[in-house]
Amino acid sequence: MARATYAAGVRGSPTISRRTALMLAIAAASGACSGQHQVATRPPPASPEPSEAPTTATPSTSATPSAAATAPALPSVAPWRPGAGELEPAAKEAAVRRIEALGDDANHRVEIIDAQYGGLLASTASVLVVCRSLARRAGRVVAGGHTYDVRLVLRGGRWRVTEIHPSRPGRPTSDPSAAARHVLASPRIALPPAARADVASGTVHDTVLEAMLTVSRRWPIGVSVVRTGHPTYVFGTVRPSDHPLGRAFDTWRIADHAIVRPSTPPGLITAYMEALAGAGSYNVGGPILLGSAPQYFSDRTHHDHVHAGFTA
Ligand SMILES: [Zn+2]
Repeated sequence: MARATYAAGVRGSPTISRRTALMLAIAAASGACSGQHQVATRPPPASPEPSEAPTTATPSTSATPSAAATAPALPSVAPWRPGAGELEPAAKEAAVRRIEALGDDANHRVEIIDAQYGGLLASTASVLVVCRSLARRAGRVVAGGHTYDVRLVLRGGRWRVTEIHPSRPGRPTSDPSAAARHVLASPRIALPPAARADVASGTVHDTVLEAMLTVSRRWPIGVSVVRTGHPTYVFGTVRPSDHPLGRAFDTWRIADHAIVRPSTPPGLITAYMEALAGAGSYNVGGPILLGSAPQYFSDRTHHDHVHAGFTA
């Protein structure tokens, strides 16, 4: 399993301890989505949430050494590698290696589902590292996971991590909408843990969820990011992103085709983007420019996913 030194640390914390790192990466699990522009140098409160990541990085009152010792062994997880078609693969690799290094130890495993850009400019980037995780806790294995907005700068020819912002979806609502229930139950919509928690929290607009249901009737889809784990502002601008407002979702896979792969048929991506516009998105971005803004846009950030934004 990949290991890295922690000496480089996170901005403002030249040396981040192993324990702090784990708490940061694994146990940051509560609160609302806002305020993610702070540099996450200290572990947020680790209040347990049933639908979220395990909190085993903090001392557990119920865990005992003997109980932990009897927990099943955690499976090994292959490190994520950028495949063909990636822009700036070194930036993604740097972000992912940092999350893997912070999240893996004897009692925790982090598996990278996808790494997509939240922003890609000439010398700065945001890589959204979409994870699921397993933790051994009190004699059992607990599943969870977060999405991390990892910020990087290109300095001296190397991409270096400067900040990490974990997703904070909040607690599940006791009264989810019908659309939210259908999305959560759909076998045709693959939601990573943070996106699932976003939908369960009741903070994603039904227009977004209904569009997901509509396009997924035609193709099974892999959703990467919904509300949390995304930059608050469109990267490199002062324009608020639709994601933290619960008015957007990103897709990284259509049917079995990762959008970033050169082998993915362009016609499939085009049809998917048009279907999103037809399902009510006012702002569809992807690797192919289909028309004028605001209905359509394309840039380097959206080379690896399709964005769909909604007015409400
Ligand atoms: Zn997006």
